[in-house]
Amino acid sequence: MAHILIIEDNAANMKLAVLLLENAGHTSLCAADAETGLTMARASRPDLILMDIQLPGMDGLAATKLLKQDPHTAGIPVLALTAMAMKEDREKTRLAGCDAYIAKPLRYLELYEKIDALLTLGKAAADGEAIPVQRSP
Ligand code: MN
Repeated sequence: MAHILIIEDNAANMKLAVLLLENAGHTSLCAADAETGLTMARASRPDLILMDIQLPGMDGLAATKLLKQDPHTAGIPVLALTAMAMKEDREKTRLAGCDAYIAKPLRYLELYEKIDALLTLGKAAADGEAIPVQRSP
């Protein structure tokens, strides 16, 4: 299945995410802060990143912006995990470049659906289906 990087500072949330991903056949890498997560993302090029938004130091929004600015990591789908439930907060995750959003607490069906959708999108992009070609006349 997929290789997924989880960036989450809460140990209980991390444990749950790892368990849910393993049950779906995915392998996971764990980072407890954004800086470690960015290093791991560059080094191991995961298929997808689960990004907690509220992190100590650099938050998940800032980390996602950096990932999306870097050509080596821009193509990795980012699924934001957040306790923020307000509509404007959801908009903030979109503006930062997150590809999808899940409100905690994690519900496994929603998590699996969003992961599958993002992995399918990522594959389409890798196959060239979603990349528009600009030609000069
Ligand atoms: Mn957190």
